[in-house]
Amino acid sequence: MPDNIRIRDLCPSNSPPPHAVDRASRSSIWPSVTFACDSPDEADGILGGTIPGYAYQRDGHPNADVLAEKCRQLHRADHATMTSSGQAAMSLALLSFLGTGDHVLLSSRLYGNTVRMFRDQASRFGIRAGETDMLDLEQVRSSMTDQTKLIVVETVSNPTLRVCDLAGLARLAHERKAKLLVDNTFASPVVCRPLELGADLVVESLTKIMNGHSDSVMGLLCGAGDDGDRINKTVRCWGMTSSPFDCWICERGLLTLHVRVSAACRTAMKVAESLVGNSAIRQVDYPGLDSHPDHAKAVRQFHGDEQPMFGHIVTMHLKGGSKGAERLIGRLDGIHYCTSLGGVETTLSHSCSSSHRSCTQAELDAVGIDGGTIRLSIGLESPEYVLNSLQSALHRLD
Ligand code: PLP
Repeated sequence: MPDNIRIRDLCPSNSPPPHAVDRASRSSIWPSVTFACDSPDEADGILGGTIPGYAYQRDGHPNADVLAEKCRQLHRADHATMTSSGQAAMSLALLSFLGTGDHVLLSSRLYGNTVRMFRDQASRFGIRAGETDMLDLEQVRSSMTDQTKLIVVETVSNPTLRVCDLAGLARLAHERKAKLLVDNTFASPVVCRPLELGADLVVESLTKIMNGHSDSVMGLLCGAGDDGDRINKTVRCWGMTSSPFDCWICERGLLTLHVRVSAACRTAMKVAESLVGNSAIRQVDYPGLDSHPDHAKAVRQFHGDEQPMFGHIVTMHLKGGSKGAERLIGRLDGIHYCTSLGGVETTLSHSCSSSHRSCTQAELDAVGIDGGTIRLSIGLESPEYVLNSLQSALHRLD
């Protein structure tokens, strides 16, 4: 490096951006790890949260703040924090609100990693976890203890798409001064805003339909009330911060959130209706169908532009069990088997070999899953494309 070139001179603070950059219609990516401070007092204030600004990326950065504000608005929340994954957002809730001696009440239909986190990992810190059927409010009431600080439930459970009474659960939680945390990943704020139904905290895996392009792993913890400071201190301290690039990618994904979710929900409804009665299928689960046990609750809790939307996930239970599932997956043309969901392309997953592979037979029976259970994540193809693909593979199962 020649002596007459100082690296500092090449940094943006010494070469102001061109005119009108502040009028750009899209955010920039600010990958900077450090931000210069004018004085020790300023650094102290920024790091302590008393002065707005940035000092060190793990403690906060512009892309996270821009995205968090959009997510806060989407959920009509009082505070929102971005994390490096959906799972990190759940850990953040645990670490922000639970301590030794506390009890957390889990839905018996939760994402497996959430159960493992609260039941197996949190027990090492003296946190006790119980499980109950959140569809039965009386059971929830009787499973709570004076130490219960948190109830954890999903808006739409995987894969049978059961829907709980969120307002009822929030009332029960508040009677005992506990918080209701809702994992809204299968719904997104376009379909459901749990905070408006009384929930205190919402987790989203932005990895799924909120970003929607399967190119970023990201999470959100947002909520009602004044817990924002506490959560932000925790996220910094435990190092769960999101990356600027992933925040930027997700911000771009959110631009089309509404149209993507609406289109996928419309297609999902058509696919579900058309699969009912197919001779290779024992049962179709979709909260939009009158036959779904929680249809009335879904109509009450979900929203859409003019009428409720019921999500982009449809589950079918094949008559042929695991052999049928294996044959279907082998014969499907144009729909891939992927363990994730919420992308622009329709995918399917097989619960017994992916999300529920560590469950015992009794646990599978309790939630109504068998080897023939297939979960579809509907994307942006036309309903005809998805149905043609499915029906021609199903036809050959007979
Ligand atoms: N919640 C639900 C319902 C999920 O399905 C997942 C992931 O599959 C997560 C949370 C965790 O999200 P991430 O993969 O972004 O950590």
